[in-house]
Amino acid sequence: MIKVNEIYYSIQGESSKAGLPCVFIRLTYCNLRCTYCDTEHAFYEGIDMGIEDILSEVKKYECNLVEVTGGEPLFQKECIGLMKRLCNNGFEVLLETGGSLPIKDVDRRVKIIMDLKCPSSGMMKKNLYTNIDDLKQSDEVKFVIGSTEDYNWSKEILEKYNLTKKCSVLFSTVFGKLEPVTLVNWILKDKLDVRFQLQMHKFIWEPTIRGV
Ligand code: SF4
Repeated sequence: MIKVNEIYYSIQGESSKAGLPCVFIRLTYCNLRCTYCDTEHAFYEGIDMGIEDILSEVKKYECNLVEVTGGEPLFQKECIGLMKRLCNNGFEVLLETGGSLPIKDVDRRVKIIMDLKCPSSGMMKKNLYTNIDDLKQSDEVKFVIGSTEDYNWSKEILEKYNLTKKCSVLFSTVFGKLEPVTLVNWILKDKLDVRFQLQMHKFIWEPTIRGV
C-alpha cells in the first residue's frame, strides 16, 4: 500500500515539460521541512492505495504524462515499484524529488526532476550529492532561489559538479521572496547555461490553492 495525498489533473508547472497537461500523483510524507514549503498538507494527510487502484485512477484522465510528486515521494519505498508499473503501462513518467534520498533505484525510463536545496530553504545540509552521479542526461536539477546567497551558492554547485554538462539545470525563484526579473538579470549577466522558470501554476491560479 502507498499513502496517497491526492491524484489530480492539471498543467505541469515546474520543468522543461511546463505547460503540458499532466496527471499528478502526490504521495504523503516528507523528510524535509523547507522554509518555503507550499505542500504541507502532504506531510501526513492521505489514504492508503494499492498500485492497481492508483493506475486505474490515473487512467481515468486519459493523459499520457504522469508526475509522481509529494511531499517526498521517495520516502515510501513502494514509490519505486509504482513508477516502474506506470512506465510499463506506457506512461511518460516524471518524478519530483527533494534530492535528499537516493535516486539510484528509480527506473531509467523516468525523468527525474531533482532539487538541490539552497541555503534559504534551511535544508541545504540534507542534499545527497552522490545522487549527481546517478543522474541521466535527460534528468533535470532544480535550484529554487530566494536570495543573493542562494544564487551564489547555486553557481558554485554548478561549477563544482559540472552540472550543466550532466543534465538540464532549472533556476526558479522562491515565490514572493525574489523578483523573477532579478534572477533573470543575474542569469543573463553571468551567461549561465540554465533554464529560468516560473512556478507557472501559481500565476494561473491563486498561489495557495490546492490540487492544481
Ligand atoms: S521537500 Fe518539498 S514537500 Fe518537502 S518540505 Fe521541502 S518543499 Fe515541502
